[in-house]
Amino acid sequence: MRVIKSVKQSYIPDQKIFNFLETFRCMVNRCIEIGLQNNIHTLKKLSAMSYRELAKYNEIPSCYKICAISKAVGILSNRNQSIKRGIRTKNPYLKRLILISYYGFKFDGGIFKIPIGNRKYFEILLNYHSKNVLSDNSLKINSFTLTLDSISIAYSREITPIKCIETMGIDRNLRNITVGNFNQVIQYDISKTVKIAETTKSIISSFKRHDFRIRTKLYTKYGTRRKNRTNQLLHKVSKDIIQRATRNRDVLVFEDIRYIKRLYQKGNRQGKKYRGTMNNWSFSEIKRQIEYKARWNGIPVVQLSKKETRGTSILCPKCGKRLQEQRTLISSEHYRELWCEFCKRWFDRDVVAVMNQSLRGLSKLDSSKGDAGEAMKGNLGNAMPVILRVDASKLPSSDLIDHLL
Ligand SMILES: [Zn+2]
Repeated sequence: MRVIKSVKQSYIPDQKIFNFLETFRCMVNRCIEIGLQNNIHTLKKLSAMSYRELAKYNEIPSCYKICAISKAVGILSNRNQSIKRGIRTKNPYLKRLILISYYGFKFDGGIFKIPIGNRKYFEILLNYHSKNVLSDNSLKINSFTLTLDSISIAYSREITPIKCIETMGIDRNLRNITVGNFNQVIQYDISKTVKIAETTKSIISSFKRHDFRIRTKLYTKYGTRRKNRTNQLLHKVSKDIIQRATRNRDVLVFEDIRYIKRLYQKGNRQGKKYRGTMNNWSFSEIKRQIEYKARWNGIPVVQLSKKETRGTSILCPKCGKRLQEQRTLISSEHYRELWCEFCKRWFDRDVVAVMNQSLRGLSKLDSSKGDAGEAMKGNLGNAMPVILRVDASKLPSSDLIDHLL
């Protein structure tokens, strides 16, 4: 199985590259025109119709003709889909300066060379990270996407999917990410991301000027800073999760976040402030990271549906009955724990969710052997999984080897 990933960086364009991208845009729009006139939206037909027409753009290498046609086909088929769904559409055209190409490029000693005609190349000096990623010989460089200020290079590698032997539930919370199953549970403390969000909020609200433009600028600046700092922390966590899953041969199981988000909507007796932090924090970012890293390493991912997610945080993982919250918090002994009336035992609140999730993931994977989950439940006995608490900010940073994990 081949898996694809990409690396992106910025570069400084010049007039030549501007003209080049502009010509490419004209080519795509010409193809769209031809497609619309003749009511065609397949690559084969459009190629036949427009290849000769594109000959007049002779300043650009001919390998880009097929790229322009395929870009046009993409746009036309999107339009076609919209029409099928009954959405009214205008005549489409490509507005952005963007080039996607599978051909002609060269990667040579840290320099990425893009042919721009007359046997000339536009050279982009790759930064340390991109160079490091692409110099791995086991990778194949597939394509590049060029805009006026950035280049994104897609590369791939051949992997053998891991044969998994157990499941690992992933539970995302405001201050922690808990992963695990009936054997072991790891809790990553990410309360630092909440702190980062609060700092950003207080910085922005300390500016009192009612100038729209300045306000927008500030939001962008501090918003980006917040995003970068949060993502860095999340990268450490996702990397660690993937390493563990590879080692234990786990299938990753995600809950349906729509179900959880509903808990934090208006009218649920939570303060406005709490709702704000909850919805702002990118729940989806950690999932995105884990998913692409899992794909890259051949680890399967299971997504539970809304229905399958229901109850994961309040039902007993052993007997399936509803757990009870401790009403009076006098002793700290059972703090954040839930009581099962039938099993006569306490469960850690964060652990309940991942245990249930891993169980449901297992039965979803293996619905033919429906009693796999039952066997797992039976094994539980009276021993609880070991909980390992990890401070996410203390994890080793994920820098250079990141593309492999
Ligand atoms: Zn129970």
